[in-house]
Amino acid sequence: MSFSNLGLSQKVLDAVNTAGYTDPTPIQEQAIPEVLEGRDVLGIAQTGTGKTASFTLPMLTKLETGRARARMPRSLILEPTRELAVQVEQNFCVYGANHNLTVALLIGGVSFDDQFRKLDRGADVLIATPGRLLDHFGRGKLLLTGISILVIDEADRMLDMGFIPDIEKICKLIPPRRQTLFFSATMPPEIQRLTKAFLKSPARIEVASPSSTAATVTQLVQEAPNDFTAKRQLLRDIIKSEDLKNAIVFCNRKRNVDIVSKSLVQHGFNARCLHGDMAQRSRQETLDSFRDGSTKILVASDVAARGLDIPEVSHVINFDVPIHAEDYIHRIGRTGRAGHSGRSITLVSKSDQKAFNSVEKLISKKLGKLSLAKSVSSEVDREEPAKEPGTRSARKPRPVRSVADKPDPRPKKKPSSGPSKANPRDKNIEKDPPRNIDKNGFSGDNVPAFLLQTVPGKRKSSS
Ligand code: AMP
Repeated sequence: MSFSNLGLSQKVLDAVNTAGYTDPTPIQEQAIPEVLEGRDVLGIAQTGTGKTASFTLPMLTKLETGRARARMPRSLILEPTRELAVQVEQNFCVYGANHNLTVALLIGGVSFDDQFRKLDRGADVLIATPGRLLDHFGRGKLLLTGISILVIDEADRMLDMGFIPDIEKICKLIPPRRQTLFFSATMPPEIQRLTKAFLKSPARIEVASPSSTAATVTQLVQEAPNDFTAKRQLLRDIIKSEDLKNAIVFCNRKRNVDIVSKSLVQHGFNARCLHGDMAQRSRQETLDSFRDGSTKILVASDVAARGLDIPEVSHVINFDVPIHAEDYIHRIGRTGRAGHSGRSITLVSKSDQKAFNSVEKLISKKLGKLSLAKSVSSEVDREEPAKEPGTRSARKPRPVRSVADKPDPRPKKKPSSGPSKANPRDKNIEKDPPRNIDKNGFSGDNVPAFLLQTVPGKRKSSS
């Protein structure tokens, strides 16, 4: 099957050709004709399957006729995170290169003014995160009655992030005669309920089992200490011992994302952090610097786990085992993309064992053990950090380095039961534990002082 048999317009076919795609992916092959026919679509597909083009290409074809009116967008795409929204906008720029359509992006963390102006000019395509969209609506800057195509992308992620009430509100604000395209990697009961309420006899297209992990990723496990400081040392050992081009290191909590990233920087590694509490500009900047290779190690929360399309990530390291097993699949899906091979390494401490068992059950696979030389740790402490892989050679080690990982001599507090009791469907996935107590029972006061300092010459945004 070739793209030219799917019913797409010539302008779209030319853009696809320029993008270098020769054959449609399975979801594109199945979804595009249905969308062009005007049917609702329920796409059960993970990122990496080409699902973005499966809705953008036919949307562009359909939007070629007609014009947008001020404050009345013609189509709406809802994304759970700002990064995904930006990525979809970039897709529209690529695939819509031969069109004269206006795309407006409504995401939080950036000023309203530019967004008002774009809405005023009239948008053919509106790409938004649910909260910011409702903000604009509440301010009377937006009418949703002109929307003929609604896309709800990454619905299960929306659920995890607590956006379902917002999605329901938005769906009710859009005329029922619309066409709805709904994508989710998994179909938990709440999502099934939503599809029953808002889709009309949809074409159901399923392209990958939610428990499948890419064959291009070598998945390994490494036993880890419970102690946070020792675990950071282990992370450095792993980074040093791997042939690492670049890596995403995932932590479960924003606070740990900050600490791990600062600790890596203090040890001379080229690292930056990414989590949902950062200003949008700095999130995007960090992501861009990782994409262009100027940042080698991205320490991130699950905000970076889904959908981000960075073709050549050599390693994913799970500093924490994800609380929800499905997140493991999304995390490791950041590597081994587009035919490249990748490695994922999951650090498992005693307290992670239960969550890790759920991961192995979900993927129906026992992970191989990483063979990490036992002596690395002691050698590392005598090494100059500037020689480490993934470093900027110019970076000088800071004298506080040895303090960084000296085990805290103060008595540790009793570990909190924290993550295992988290409500799996609330927003807390990315939230910090109760103030001053981390999952290992360390109080905030136990964080070595240097970790809380801004690194000279480093942008404040990475803290
Ligand atoms: P997605 O699942 O939408 O995140 O897409 C994953 C990646 O596949 C993106 O880098 C797309 O540019 C790429 N892609 C989408 N469609 C095709 C295609 N038909 N052939 C090759 N690559 C594609």
